[in-house]
Amino acid sequence: MNKNNIQQSKEKNKQKKSIFYIDCLWTENIPKRVLTNSSINTFYICPKKYDLSYNKAIYPIKYNAATTIGSAVHLALDFLKSGHSLEFAILKVVETFKDIINKLEKLLPEEDLDKIKQYARFDLIKARAMVKIYNSIYHETNFTNKTIDKEIDFKYFERVLGPMHLVNPKTLRLSKSFAIAGKSDGEGIHKKCHKTVSWELKTTSMEFSTIIENLEFGIQMPLYQFMEGQHDKRYPQFTVLDIIRKPSIKPLKKTKSTTGKRSRANDETPLQYYNRCIELYTKEQSRFFGRYIIPVSEANIINALELAWNTSRLIKFYDTHGYPAPRGTHCIGPYGVCEYKSLCWYDDWDFYEQLDIAHEELGIIADKIR
Ligand code: SF4
Repeated sequence: MNKNNIQQSKEKNKQKKSIFYIDCLWTENIPKRVLTNSSINTFYICPKKYDLSYNKAIYPIKYNAATTIGSAVHLALDFLKSGHSLEFAILKVVETFKDIINKLEKLLPEEDLDKIKQYARFDLIKARAMVKIYNSIYHETNFTNKTIDKEIDFKYFERVLGPMHLVNPKTLRLSKSFAIAGKSDGEGIHKKCHKTVSWELKTTSMEFSTIIENLEFGIQMPLYQFMEGQHDKRYPQFTVLDIIRKPSIKPLKKTKSTTGKRSRANDETPLQYYNRCIELYTKEQSRFFGRYIIPVSEANIINALELAWNTSRLIKFYDTHGYPAPRGTHCIGPYGVCEYKSLCWYDDWDFYEQLDIAHEELGIIADKIR
């Protein structure tokens, strides 16, 4: 065997072993059951929660500030990055909040709704301030008056990844029962190095270090990078991660008067609160806005696929033997009391609804499989 042949055979062996060279995930009969980063995470928080949320598609009817702010900011930044003005993007923030309140109006009693509206108007202001300052840091306006990202030429936003066969990274066997899928925030070409990159946005109250740590040890980045590689037949070189921390200030309330009653008329107005948010963001920009590079690592992709594969086995086991509900202190997690507590502990169905399909993301994916 001459030198060239040895080199070629080494290359072939390397390709056989490398997860980067797999290209067999698009065969027919993609399984209808789909695992995503968030469904896998939910499963490890609590299998019962996974069952209620992803198998039975049961949702708590409530206002979730973190999710609403996150959706509004994501949507606004997608519009900014695709060339719309800041004013248009802010309009999308307002619309997102309106849609959510309109939906809750049909489902909740008036008294609860009034309370929600009080919180929501200040959350809306947070989201507006987040979009405004992000825009001033990362975008510029070009000669045709289009808003453009300073670093990335975007090709996709909110791209649905998959569904594709779940693969066992050790044996390269395809799962007959589970597919994997997800939704990436964006993909494009980096303007400086001209490499393919993916983009991920996180809106959070946590410290940057906690988010980075979670992502470094988590499966979201490697799973998305893997699926992007499968879609494009070319792996992204790295992920650009933007983190926006929510303003860590609350609206000021007037102190109690001598009668003991608080006068709402003198509480901080939304405009005053907005100005304080902008002032805080401007003064301490680096504490609230961060951009990081997350490299693509084959080892991390293998670990993520392995975890997904093992999760699929456990889910099948619980399908047969029932999903355990470890009720107790476990139900008060790092983000507060589990939103399924009253249903799970007391079988109280007030304020829950059952939909046809779990999660909007999975709805789009299910349409693709049908
Ligand atoms: S209340 Fe507790 S046991 Fe029930 S789903 Fe939530 S975390 Fe799981």
